[in-house]
Amino acid sequence: MRYAVLSDVHANAQALRAVVSSLKVADVRSVVCLGDVVGYGADPGEVIAVSRTLCEVTVAGNHDRAASARDSGFLFNQSASEAIVWTREQLSDEEVSYLAGLPLTSVYEETLLVHASPRNPGAWTYVTGRRSAAIALSAFEERLCLVGHTHRPAFYVSDGEKARRLSLPKLTMQDGRRYLVNVGSVGQPRDGDPRASYAVVDTNADTVEICRVAYDTELAGRRILAAGLPVFLAERLNHGG
Ligand code: ZN
Repeated sequence: MRYAVLSDVHANAQALRAVVSSLKVADVRSVVCLGDVVGYGADPGEVIAVSRTLCEVTVAGNHDRAASARDSGFLFNQSASEAIVWTREQLSDEEVSYLAGLPLTSVYEETLLVHASPRNPGAWTYVTGRRSAAIALSAFEERLCLVGHTHRPAFYVSDGEKARRLSLPKLTMQDGRRYLVNVGSVGQPRDGDPRASYAVVDTNADTVEICRVAYDTELAGRRILAAGLPVFLAERLNHGG
């Protein structure tokens, strides 16, 4: 069975709509979400509504927790915290309680879903290289763990001792190995490619594939500026950085 994995949509309705359109071609049976539904972008209400109907499972991201004031102790940079304050003002009580109720982890099709790292998920640490990947790979039992948070797609494999990085965009899993996959970001990619990023997991073929979808970054940027959010948040969409 094939399912799509979305993460870090960040209230970017233009990117989410483009991804939803591409899912018909991707031939998936279901969709799951690794959190950061809101924060940064200009359409939190639409993105919450779409992802609630679209996603079978959604785990919490740090921005979801901050927007629902459940995790006020997390430190954000200036533009992120401005966006969180703005986002809170847009959300209904019902939307806030939906975000506050998202779990930190979930197991789906024998795969662990978590926003940042399987090691202490509520600490929101970043898995950015082989060393942090090795720590993360030792912190869960399942064969595969799917994460987001860095906004950069990546594949890591463990042979039991060391972790290695594997090349994108397609991973074929082998027996006796365990994997950590970062699916990238739908709404604010930071790997130099402005196209929305998500993954498709095929449980029969044992593959994970990163998919990229172009969308109207200019329009998403104009929505951010019209909302009075920081200019930086609009500009970075155009170059994926
Ligand atoms: Zn994020």
